[in-house]
Amino acid sequence: MHNEIQSTHLRDLLSTICDPEIPVLTLQDLGVLRDVSLEDDEVTVLITPTYSGCPAVDAMSRDIESTLNAAGYEHVKVRQVLSPAWSTDWMSDEGRKKLLAYGIAPPLRKESGCNNHKGAHIACPQCNSERVKRISEFGSTACKALYQCRDCLEPFDYFKCI
Ligand SMILES: [Zn+2]
Repeated sequence: MHNEIQSTHLRDLLSTICDPEIPVLTLQDLGVLRDVSLEDDEVTVLITPTYSGCPAVDAMSRDIESTLNAAGYEHVKVRQVLSPAWSTDWMSDEGRKKLLAYGIAPPLRKESGCNNHKGAHIACPQCNSERVKRISEFGSTACKALYQCRDCLEPFDYFKCI
């Protein structure tokens, strides 16, 4: 029982940590937190990084360690779980709303055909128009593509679906 209370506490702490690249999203919103366990006085946190090779993973691990250290957990191990690979489908609805409010078009669901690159279903975060065009395969980071709205002419990042 004691352990259960602690693991809830750990999850609460972890759910406050934000993605280093998109600070409006927590690791919880992104769906990267797989598991957290406590054995003796050692905490093991399992995460599935959003994009393999994404430099954000190191920053994420450091944030997890420092957050838990500050809460009194001295021994923290962060392990990466690479299989199954993270998918944008794991992003929570809450996370999608936050992205949109931040001006980034959230990833399309896989079943809605995210792999067609025509941008047909991607909507402009400013005016909600679906008349958008892709400017570049890479936006502010490799995880995003740069689009422009044909109606309000605003350029915006689209969080690529994987
Ligand atoms: Zn627009």
